[in-house]
Amino acid sequence: MTLLEAKHLEVGYPVAGAGVFSRSVTLPIVRDVSLALEPGRTLGVVGESGCGKSTLGRGLLRLIAPTGGQVLWQGQDMAAMAPEVLRQRRAEMQIIFQDPVAALDPRLTLGRIISRPLATFEPGLSTSDVRARVMEALQRVGLSEDYASRYPHELSGGQAQRVGIARAIIGRPKMIVCDEPVSALDVSIQAQVVNLLMDLQDQLGLALVFISHNLAVVRHISHQVMVMCLGRVVETAPRDAFYARPLHPYSRALMDAVPEPDPRREKGRIGTALPGELPSALNPPKGCVFATRCPLVQERCRTERPELRDFPGGRHAACHYVEA
Ligand code: SF4
Repeated sequence: MTLLEAKHLEVGYPVAGAGVFSRSVTLPIVRDVSLALEPGRTLGVVGESGCGKSTLGRGLLRLIAPTGGQVLWQGQDMAAMAPEVLRQRRAEMQIIFQDPVAALDPRLTLGRIISRPLATFEPGLSTSDVRARVMEALQRVGLSEDYASRYPHELSGGQAQRVGIARAIIGRPKMIVCDEPVSALDVSIQAQVVNLLMDLQDQLGLALVFISHNLAVVRHISHQVMVMCLGRVVETAPRDAFYARPLHPYSRALMDAVPEPDPRREKGRIGTALPGELPSALNPPKGCVFATRCPLVQERCRTERPELRDFPGGRHAACHYVEA
């Protein structure tokens, strides 16, 4: 059963026009993205900074209203849901943010912070039920009960992210969008948080959209990998096939940009910028989104956009010339 489905999703932001009296225009960030996610599965979304992966995560949750296409939740078009139905569905889909400390209100105890979704989605719960749910959430993320009375400034980055996860799971969601959830953490803590998410997925049957520019972390947690470049999907593949041999030249360039393992640097992170100039989202290339930087570019690539093509093994790549 498909939990979440996006069909030709478009997400953008309004920005001021170029002239003093110009009307605002929509800056397209996510273009024509389709995906499907099943319970208990993880979709890893990778790409450079600015490729649109975080905006995609927010568009899937309708935290930003899509400018085109559809998002279906358990087969229902979210745009067509009545406000009350959408509010109930929102309890089933949560998000974890990149900066765990900034995501916590410093004036509130952790118990208050973790219990907040219950006030929104289950307002009829008694005080003792809320307390029991907070304790259960703390226990699930490996924190003792006394954390409920502490404040965010008392936490390390890893503990703060555990609190963020506790807040995300307290409403018993079916899916969590994890937006760069470990990139602000020390390397030694990253594995603990990723393993915690995988344990919770096993225990709760969660579906995860795991957004990251760390290819090693995505490899560890994902079942399916989706590569984005300038707002478009350029490759999707089952995890093992992707890491054995990425098809798309952009995917290969990302792999090549990963620095050599070095204990002083973050292993697996996309390191150096890719060669060539990153095109403007306001004025994207007419043809392939990677044409200005691709070592294999041909004249056709500059004028004709490659569609995602099917390849054996459930793979898809958007390139005129790539072979299986
Ligand atoms: S379509 Fe052309 S420019 Fe785009 S990735 Fe393929 S070879 Fe490179």
